[in-house]
Amino acid sequence: MTVAADDPRAEPSPELVERVGERLALVRDRIRAAGGDESVRIIGVTKGHPVAAVRAGLAVGLVDLGENYAKELQEKAEAVEADGTPVRWHMIGQLQTNKVRTIAPHVAMVQTVDRPSLVDELAKRVPGLPVLVQVNLSGDPARGGCTWEDAPGLVEAAAAAGLRPEGLMGVAPQSTTDEARSAFARLAALRARLGLAELSIGMSGDLDIAVAEGATMVRIGTAVFGER
Ligand SMILES: *Cc1c(COP(=O)(O)O)cnc(C)c1O
Repeated sequence: MTVAADDPRAEPSPELVERVGERLALVRDRIRAAGGDESVRIIGVTKGHPVAAVRAGLAVGLVDLGENYAKELQEKAEAVEADGTPVRWHMIGQLQTNKVRTIAPHVAMVQTVDRPSLVDELAKRVPGLPVLVQVNLSGDPARGGCTWEDAPGLVEAAAAAGLRPEGLMGVAPQSTTDEARSAFARLAALRARLGLAELSIGMSGDLDIAVAEGATMVRIGTAVFGER
């Protein structure tokens, strides 16, 4: 589901800014309670929310924002570029190679690198781009991500192609807490074995487990911006 372009100049109401600020503070509390510190980066996921919500997030201090759809990332990035507020856009959804062009001028990191054709297209259109290799933690191919076996080779291929592979990303299987925890732990171990810096795990529902297992980035939508 993508949101139709709303008014690109829309400003958030003071109430929205206050609500987003309060929710962000609660997320920071949860990160601390789980043993994380300020170095855990919060990626504010604005998918499905209007551009006013993006401005509310930036107003309360978020710098890293995530989107799932190329067109939505492009529209929101273009809308706020004129504001002059610093923002780093992360692509966190499955990315078709023919959509790389759409995000190329705006994106600071693609977190969903999961196949050689995407490595090649990104290297061609956005040389030097920081990327994460997404590993499929659920076994459900519809959810994106490469296999455990393919991850090391993709990291190598990304580096060889001139991208900057900085870490691994995963979405927890929709199952029990124990299964999420063990999938996160396994991804953390692989990240360490490959000598990579970043581990992007954890969403609104499971950020506590993710931080406990060593997340360096959490991708938070609902807990900051509300229901979509
Ligand atoms: C939507 C989404 C998120 C944020 O989910 P919430 O549960 O709303 O925090 C994080 N990561 C990915 C890959 C997503 O698609």
